[in-house]
Amino acid sequence: QRVKWVVGNWKMHGRLAENASLLQSVAEGTGPLADVIRIGVCVPTPYLAQAQALLSGQPLAWGVQDVSTYTHGAYTGEVAAEMACEFGATLAIVGHSERRAYHAESSGLVAAKARRALEAGLTPIVCIGETLDEREAGTTEAVVGAQLDSVLNLLSVEEAARIIIAYEPVWAIGTGRSATAEQAQEVHAFLRARLAQKDASLARVALLYGGSVKPENAQVLFGQADIDGGLIGGASLKSQDFLAICAAA
Ligand code: 13P
Repeated sequence: QRVKWVVGNWKMHGRLAENASLLQSVAEGTGPLADVIRIGVCVPTPYLAQAQALLSGQPLAWGVQDVSTYTHGAYTGEVAAEMACEFGATLAIVGHSERRAYHAESSGLVAAKARRALEAGLTPIVCIGETLDEREAGTTEAVVGAQLDSVLNLLSVEEAARIIIAYEPVWAIGTGRSATAEQAQEVHAFLRARLAQKDASLARVALLYGGSVKPENAQVLFGQADIDGGLIGGASLKSQDFLAICAAA
């Protein structure tokens, strides 16, 4: 039995006052769902303390959107995984396409971040996905396969069994244009087969879909055989939408 997850990625959104009401209503609403799925929110780093204060003891995990590959040192602006752990974080998104695109993160760096997160005790949510050009050129499997391999090649099988993978086609992120359930399922099946090729036990890794997930399309996406939930951007900022998506998983 695979674990189902719905995780909100707030990106660079939020302010103390609005976060408080969002976190409280999401925490209240997730209570009844907690037996069936795991739910989390990845907040901007300055709000980790707020998440810890409001969510401790609730069935809602919290985490960060990136981690450094280092434990400490002269790395201005970076945040160590251990620092996130001090605030009760258990999740860390790594390799989001916005980091790959705007901060030139390579697949090698993303793999190192995933390993660092694991070493610190965080569950990395490793994001992979093709651009529109890559899809139209017919290279989707080559692109996401290589992104996955970078991570699998750096981790032991035991470590790899503890990661979450989010397939997020870049062209579907923030565009309102979700992949169809068939398109998403096709890539998820490919990724699951590739995981199983590395080691049979890795077929159980949670594979989330991300990219314009909304209450209206969540059920059909999450109903696919190899889709274990979602990584939610814009819709995670509205408690009703986020809870409706959680209920669909
Ligand atoms: P949207 O749900 O806003 O398309 O963002 C998806 C995403 O990037 C989640 O990490």
